[in-house]
This record gives sequence, structure tokens and C-alpha cells, in this order.
Amino acid sequence: MNDVIPTLSAAQLDAADPLAAFRQEFHIPPGPDGQPCAYLCGNSLGLQPKAARAAVEQEFDAWERLGVEGHFHGTSPWMHYHETLAAGSAALVGARPIEVVVMNNLTVNLHLLLVSFYRPTATRYKILMEGGAFPSDQYAIESQARLHGLDPAEVIVELVPRPGEHTLRTEDIEATIKELGDSLATVLIGGVNYYTGQAFDMVAITRAGHAVGALVGFDLAHAAGNLEMHLHDWDVDFACWCSYKYLNSGPGGASGVFVHERFAHRPDLVRLAGWWGHDPSDRFQMKKGFRPMAGAAGWQLSNAQIFPMAIHRASLDLVERAGGMAALRRKSEQLTAYLEARIHELGLPTSQLEIITPTDPAQRGCQLSILVHQRGRELFDYLASQGIIADWREPNVIRLAPVPLYNSFEDVRRVTEAIREFTATSAH
Ligand SMILES: *Cc1c(COP(=O)(O)O)cnc(C)c1O
Repeated sequence: MNDVIPTLSAAQLDAADPLAAFRQEFHIPPGPDGQPCAYLCGNSLGLQPKAARAAVEQEFDAWERLGVEGHFHGTSPWMHYHETLAAGSAALVGARPIEVVVMNNLTVNLHLLLVSFYRPTATRYKILMEGGAFPSDQYAIESQARLHGLDPAEVIVELVPRPGEHTLRTEDIEATIKELGDSLATVLIGGVNYYTGQAFDMVAITRAGHAVGALVGFDLAHAAGNLEMHLHDWDVDFACWCSYKYLNSGPGGASGVFVHERFAHRPDLVRLAGWWGHDPSDRFQMKKGFRPMAGAAGWQLSNAQIFPMAIHRASLDLVERAGGMAALRRKSEQLTAYLEARIHELGLPTSQLEIITPTDPAQRGCQLSILVHQRGRELFDYLASQGIIADWREPNVIRLAPVPLYNSFEDVRRVTEAIREFTATSAH
């Protein structure tokens, strides 16, 4: 594909795209000229699937017609609603259905999982994370350390790139894990770093963590719906993700959780409990004594959030209809390679503009992060004036995330043309 890219036009690539029709399944917001914008911001909030409204309306109808009986009757009884998301979520991250559950929001789930999978002792108490991780993850981990009466500064070890580099090297992550050895309790790293777009080698990190006796989990906020994953086979201990970025399930959408099958029948694991995680056979006898359900479902606290889950179900259906993550990833690699090739074609010096996301497709998802050394904010505003929705991160990074379900090669052509126009005028 990388060889053909320079010789084919965006229109030709779109005509040959087997997923092109899925763009019609989404509402594309209009740009300033009233025409559909080039939306390259699916890493922040994915667009609305047209099926989402009907999915929610179905539950409004059930509530209207059935009231409390909607828990047991209706098209999709609410009592079992979360179960209807298990197969799609499992396929999404390469898990077994017992290993996944949809519940709460992402940061809440990070805490619930850390309560179980960060159990510091006098000698094994360190947590390894990426430096410059998403702030919510930093705050979650700091406060987990304090929850155990520990000083975050003594507990948290941050991975940082080598001087002059923007991303982490797998061998450096492995070396740090080895060095920490039996002081390392838990590794918690993003599957894809939100800022640089770097995808981490989850297989190597999991193996290295297990070799020193640590537990290994991933925050998959920027990986779910973006990368093809095999969490079960990779032997990952735990993970969670949000559904409103690459999974198009709406602002504040429900979060997904993975707990490896080896913990499925471990009622002894310390956790924060709630009635929805209790064995359903006697949940409604309202008795004392928590007995968790097997698998990830045993971490549920509250009854299911039907409305966000209805949207999420419609979104997971779209992923499945598109052929699953393998099909999405095939197009995604082409779109991102096309974006990268067209940016390089602009011939701009790295003193002006530089892609900090790794060039190796195995080390990135769809997002390219562009470090703009001159007039970055102006460029970002110019893109917006041209109907291109990108994403700005302080101090000077523009993130562009062409996603396979609704972005076209034409969207990518538009953004690179706009960068060309802007940099041509700023040259004099
Ligand atoms: C988007 C994102 C979050 C957001 O957390 P919420 O609880 O959904 O608000 C947290 N962590 C990472 C790494 C993210 O990318």
C-alpha cells in the first residue's frame, strides 16, 4: 500500500475502499461553509452513528410503555442489558466474554481495577506508568498510593523518552521493569499514548512485568476501536477503556473493563462491591454477604446505565458489520500512511513541523501528532476556518486522527492541502 499511495489520488483510494459506505452511517457536522467538515478528531469524541438515536428511543419507548417492568420485558430487558454487550466487547479487545463487562466511566473503572490489582506490600509497592500520562490516570494512581498510606513520589515510577526523542523504546521499558524487579507491584500504561499517538508493545510489556512477578494492566482509552488487540492471548491482567473516542458511543459514554480469565473464579480478590456484581441467583433476596459473579461482571457495582449502553451497542454493531477490528485496522493503516506520505510531500523542515508519532505502523494507531514549532495555534485556527476539525494540545501539538469508519482519503487530502496553503503564505 505504501508504494501505491503516491501514485493514486484520494478519489481513487476512496473508490477502492471497501469500508467507504460506512461514512453514510454517521452524522458528519458541517464546516463554516455548511458542507461536511473533515472530522479528524475521533480520538477525542467520535461522531454520532445514525443508529444511535433509534437505539435510545427504543429504551425510551420501553420505559414509557412498561415502567419498572422494562427490567423484565421489552425488546432488551434491562436486567440483562449489560450481558448483550459482552460478545461485542470481547471481540473488540480479543477477550473471552467472561473477561469483559461494560459499566461506569473510565476513571471510575481505573480505580476499581487498581483496588484489586494494586495491592502494595512493604517490599513490593511500586507502580510503573508513562511519564506525561493523561492527567486522570496520574491523579488516579497518585490517590491510590495515598489510599494505602503511601507517598506517590516513592511509589510512582515514570517512563520518559531518551533525551532528544519523543517516544519510548520498548527495550527501555523492559529494562526499567527488570531493574525495579520485586519492588514492582503493578504496571499501568496506556495502550496508545494520547499525546504522541505511540502504541506500546503490550505483549513485551506484559511478559516483562510477569517475569518480575508484577501485575500488568493497560488504559486502552486510545487503543479500543483503534488497534487490533488480543488481550486474552497476550495474558494481560486487566484493562479498561472509554467508548466515546474511537468507539463513537457519545459524550460520557459507558466504559469497558477486561479482567483476565485466570481471575474469573477468585471471589477472594479484594474489590469494592455492589449489588450488580453479586451472584444474580440470589441478588434480589437482598441478603448479607457479597458473593461476586464469575469474571469481570463481578466488579460491577450498580445496575446498568441503559441509555449510554444502548448507544454503545449500536456502535459495537457497526464495528462488527464492518468486519471487526481486523478490517478497520487494514483501512486505518492505509489512511494514516497516506496522511504521513502527504505531510512528507510538503517538504517542510522539521524546524517548522515535525511528526512525533512513530513511523512504524506497529507502534501507532491512526493518530499522527504533529509538533508545530512555528505559529502552531494559527495553523490550527486556519484548519478550523477551512472546515477541518483537528485537536490542539498545549504547548504546540496538533493531533490528526483519520478513523476508518467515517473518514475518507479525501478528508486527509483536505487537511494536507490546507497545511500547504497555510505554510505557503507564512513563508513570506
Ligand atoms: C480520555 C481519557 C480519559 C478520560 O477519562 P474519563 O473517566 O472517561 O473522563 C482517561 N485516561 C485516558 C488515557 C484517556 O485517554
